Amino acid sequence: MRITADREACCSAGQCALIAPDLFDQSDEDGSVVLLDARPDAEQLDVLREVVSRCPTGAISLEEDPGA
Ligand code: SF4
Repeated sequence: MRITADREACCSAGQCALIAPDLFDQSDEDGSVVLLDARPDAEQLDVLREVVSRCPTGAISLEEDPGA
């Protein structure tokens, strides 16, 4: 699976870094999302779905591998 984070859309709410600190951080400058791992393991899928659903701006997209 693949994650993308749209820093233009991000409002620096920090939900992603709070829920999945291994995968997301926030910029020291403006708090916008910093993606730490764009291709995480499948075990992270549940937590990633939570991140996607909790991000207030829809800045995080998750592409699941076909058949996964
Ligand atoms: S949860 Fe969404 S809006 Fe908040 S920091 Fe992460 S990407 Fe940005």
